[in-house]
Amino acid sequence: MHVGVVAIQGDFEKHAAAILACGYDNTTIVEIRTSEELAHVERAIIPGGESTTVGLLMQRYGLGDALKKAASEGMPLWGTCMGMIMMAKSVIGRHQYTLELLEIEVARNAFGAQVHSFEDEVTVEGLDQPVLGVFIRAPIVTSVTAPAQTIAKYDGKIVGVRQGKLIGTSFHPELTDDIRLHRFFMTL
Ligand code: GLN
Repeated sequence: MHVGVVAIQGDFEKHAAAILACGYDNTTIVEIRTSEELAHVERAIIPGGESTTVGLLMQRYGLGDALKKAASEGMPLWGTCMGMIMMAKSVIGRHQYTLELLEIEVARNAFGAQVHSFEDEVTVEGLDQPVLGVFIRAPIVTSVTAPAQTIAKYDGKIVGVRQGKLIGTSFHPELTDDIRLHRFFMTL
């Protein structure tokens, strides 16, 4: 299995380590910066970062179109924080480039500025025990339209969604030792 981690910005190495820690045989991590690199993988993660910058680069160099095509052909994709913003249909109050894959609207930096980054328990559908949600200038999901579904909430706010093989989380499971969500992603 070749697993891609979009490596334009953000903590992509942590995602790579978490995927390898899942312990599946024959897992190879491929860092993705171009559409050619995407063609070598069967699933991919879009990590955290800054969505305006990454969006511009994805649009300019064609990786955005390649990701959209791959998702439409059934490739599992998981976006964490900025990655979820990139996968959203729209961003509240802004006209910025996104992949428009998840039928959701998001609000950026919705928990406050950098100083307001925090960690707390988050209940995720399908997991027996909560995960430790690491929120860093995190977005919240302000609306979810079918076929997208809410899979995680924190303090009444939607922080995790699923739409078939597409997943978005506001928080960063790769920054904890808990690999349950990475395992789940590998089963999609
Ligand atoms: N605040 C960033 C954005 O709006 C996302 C932050 C993150 O990915 N940790 O693009």
